[in-house]
Amino acid sequence: MKDKTVLICGAGISGPTLAFWLQAAGFRTTLVENAPALRTGGYVIDFWGLGYDIADRLGLASDIERVGYHMRELQIVNDRGKRVAGFGTRVFRELTGGRFVTLGRSDLSRLLFEKVKRTTEVIFGNEIIGLQENADGVQVQFKHGGDRRFDLVIGADGLHSTVRKLVFGPQELFEKHLGYIVAAFEVCGYRPRDEDVYVIYSEPGRMVARFALHDDRTLFLFVFVADVGSAKAMTDLSAQKAVLRERFGTDRWECQRILGELDRTQDLYFDRVSQIKMKRWSKGRVALVGDAAFCVSLMAGQGSALAMTAAYVLAGEIAKGGGRHDEAFGKYEGLLRAYIGSKQQGAERFAAAFAPKTRFGLFLRNQVIKAFAVPRLARLAFGRDIIDTLQLPDYGWPAL
Ligand SMILES: Cc1cc2nc3c(=O)[nH]c(=O)nc-3n(C[C@H](O)[C@H](O)[C@H](O)COP(=O)(O)OP(=O)(O)OC[C@H]3O[C@@H](n4cnc5c(N)ncnc54)[C@H](O)[C@@H]3O)c2cc1C
Repeated sequence: MKDKTVLICGAGISGPTLAFWLQAAGFRTTLVENAPALRTGGYVIDFWGLGYDIADRLGLASDIERVGYHMRELQIVNDRGKRVAGFGTRVFRELTGGRFVTLGRSDLSRLLFEKVKRTTEVIFGNEIIGLQENADGVQVQFKHGGDRRFDLVIGADGLHSTVRKLVFGPQELFEKHLGYIVAAFEVCGYRPRDEDVYVIYSEPGRMVARFALHDDRTLFLFVFVADVGSAKAMTDLSAQKAVLRERFGTDRWECQRILGELDRTQDLYFDRVSQIKMKRWSKGRVALVGDAAFCVSLMAGQGSALAMTAAYVLAGEIAKGGGRHDEAFGKYEGLLRAYIGSKQQGAERFAAAFAPKTRFGLFLRNQVIKAFAVPRLARLAFGRDIIDTLQLPDYGWPAL
């Protein structure tokens, strides 16, 4: 495979994971990322299961335990910050044999990138604007200079994938909006801090969460109901801040202070909570991976782990296919489709209960959360979603 070249678009989670395993199989990889440097910001993710196993195979288990958090409790608070419901999260570590950690998305992305940055060609601040497939490769046109040929091109460029748009058509054909917007940002020095406790305040149709990070940083997460049209309209930072102020401006708890912090931030993650559903994840010599192919949304709680799993399987099948990319892509989809489909269905079910739209809905949600304080009930409720049903194939990576 020494002279086979693969262009991977997107240096988030699935892109570097794919680059690592393709290199392990002897491919020459190039990562192109449109941001000028690795993206920062965003939410913390719960990380377990196959994603954890792959991180372990990459030699990252001790790093993710070091940079991650072991959450103790999820707490729902009222207007005055008083706990009204909650449950201990030890059950997650029990169900996963201790292999469960809460991680900053950008920390995970950085650790994965560190693994490949010296061995893969990395191009920041550029993007693909044209793809032309011919008999022996794909001719790629870059925004800032020149055409290049690659044997394969993989779109690992997230929910709003450009590769998907160029090869399969506009996002509207594949996007299913789940009815919410998510926004996240972090600040330094915020008080109070509740170490290893995830604190949530809710009003009908919206919620704010606070989580204490290392180095005196605090992460805030907003989720609120919004239709797809208004979600698409909020593209610039000032419009995004304005809508957060409008939605949360009259709310109590710490909302006024949090909105004050929001005024000072320049790094706000803000996006639609959507899924991507496609009949095929590949066409000719181009394939998609991670959110670009099958975004499950934050409601699944596993987007990054699934992106890593898919990248691992795609690399393994490409390597096994020995140049027969169509066969490799077919097997990649065959192995993962049902598994990913069930995660998407689970996320859709959960979305309905995530930010209840009425006071009665909030009351019911809190009663359910209170029930999770009973460990046996929590194990019953979460067991099915936590334990992965897919067996990771072993591809016997020759270059490792
Ligand atoms: C900054 C950021 C913050 C996030 N925060 C949250 C969050 O708070 N909650 C949540 O549920 N999910 C969040 N996500 C999404 C979550 O990380 C993904 O579900 C998951 O990581 C899937 O990984 P992925 O590699 O498929 O996509 P991503 O992690 O989204 O990575 C895609 C990468 O492709 C790059 N890219 C995009 N377009 C192009 C292009 N045209 N050319 C080249 N590169 C391109 C992006 O900059 C990014 O680095 C966030 C994503 C990003 C990029």
